[in-house]
Amino acid sequence: MTLYHSTLGQAPAVDFETAVLNGLAPDGGMYVPAEFPQVTHQQLEDWKELSYPELAHKVLSLFIDETAVPSADLKTLINASFSTFSHPEVIPHQPLTDDCYVQELFHGPTLSFKDVAMGFVVNLFDYFLRRRGERRTLMVATSGDTGPAAAYASIGKTSLSTWLFFPTGLITDEQARQMTTIMVPNVHSVAIDNCRNGSDDLDTLIGHCFADDAFREEMNLSSVNSINWARVMTQTVHYFYGYLRHAKQVGNLVNFAVPCGAFGNMCAGSMASQMGLPVGEMIVATNTNLVLSQALETGVFAKIDIKNTFASAIDISIPMNFWRHLYFSLDGDADRIRAAWETYELKGEVRFSPAEHAAFSNGFRTYTVSDEEILATTRSLWQQESYLLDPHGAVAVAAARHYRAQISGPIVCLATAHPSKFPETIRLAIGELPAQGCHDSLEAARSAGERKYIFDFANMQQEVPRVMRTVMTNQF
Ligand SMILES: *Cc1c(COP(=O)(O)O)cnc(C)c1O
Repeated sequence: MTLYHSTLGQAPAVDFETAVLNGLAPDGGMYVPAEFPQVTHQQLEDWKELSYPELAHKVLSLFIDETAVPSADLKTLINASFSTFSHPEVIPHQPLTDDCYVQELFHGPTLSFKDVAMGFVVNLFDYFLRRRGERRTLMVATSGDTGPAAAYASIGKTSLSTWLFFPTGLITDEQARQMTTIMVPNVHSVAIDNCRNGSDDLDTLIGHCFADDAFREEMNLSSVNSINWARVMTQTVHYFYGYLRHAKQVGNLVNFAVPCGAFGNMCAGSMASQMGLPVGEMIVATNTNLVLSQALETGVFAKIDIKNTFASAIDISIPMNFWRHLYFSLDGDADRIRAAWETYELKGEVRFSPAEHAAFSNGFRTYTVSDEEILATTRSLWQQESYLLDPHGAVAVAAARHYRAQISGPIVCLATAHPSKFPETIRLAIGELPAQGCHDSLEAARSAGERKYIFDFANMQQEVPRVMRTVMTNQF
């Protein structure tokens, strides 16, 4: 049985189920497995023809043994989680020119890549909780897509009460309505006005709620934000799938370009590589919020003030999963990670030594995409290939094109949202909103009734716990 440790090294090792249900380790660190399962070329060969859910069962079984979830139950959970996807292939690939491929991660119920892991993780939570006869309250901060995915996945789950927190005006109306129009008793949307640092402010709010022992215990708080190990684990599967679709022969290298925010997706790609998947270059594609590119290029990992960009889901100052990546790259040296974390919390930045920097930047390339380049990339793909990208997919494709001549082998570009979630940017890019940029579910939400709480950044720390207590007292 694989045990899970905290990246900060001061919490007891726990089993998979506990790591998932706790979300964050009690010392404030993130759970990481004691070792990665390894995959052989023969296994990859055998997996070539599998459907996405079948492949997910193979890959996730490497992490989840029979004692945690019996294999037949795991299969049922996985099938239920991906049955909500509208595309028969679940995650199809669209070929572009020059051996580049768009991996469409947005065919889930809320039209973003967050559905890929969230459906399964929430189903897994519900499975564990029902088995234990327990309930949990989930607090979910969102930069636009995590909230809708968690809201949708929570519908009908009596074991869960789910609270979504979003920064007013910093996500699109389409994204907000995906949350506020869900009218079920266990899902609650909260808009916070005047957030200066977007969803990072909401992470701070949730951090305070977790740090309040009495409140945490009273509410049975947990988290399915990307700090949750199960999210990152589940996101390894689309790298395996993309690899098997595009490697001419098992063993050949396949490259990935990933639009990065909190680094959960890319951390999963790096894990897949360490599990033995022949991944070539990993292109960390970002918008003009330079946290990740600066860390990977210079070895200085610093908090920044957020700029609002067209790729708003990756306007992130504190990419929590970078800490997991640091832990893995620095050989699981929890003392070093804790010292770095303390410096980062105290000074807002931490400088790594040249040797450490070399270790954690190995295998990565970075590329920064401006708003202008997002528009230009969207426009050129639309004009030349009649293919409509969302702004985050455009970040990935722009980065792949930048490096195309220097990298050999296929490049898989991760498209993380459906363009219909960003209609204003699409209009700016191509002057119209074509049918590919619309979606029936978002049209329906436009005229549906809404339910939400609204608080201000200035008083959220008092108001949010108060309202949650009141509602929960009435609900359970
Ligand atoms: C969350 C998200 C990302 C970034 O993923 P991370 O795991 O946070 O790096 C990219 N694009 C979209 C549309 C997203 O919702």
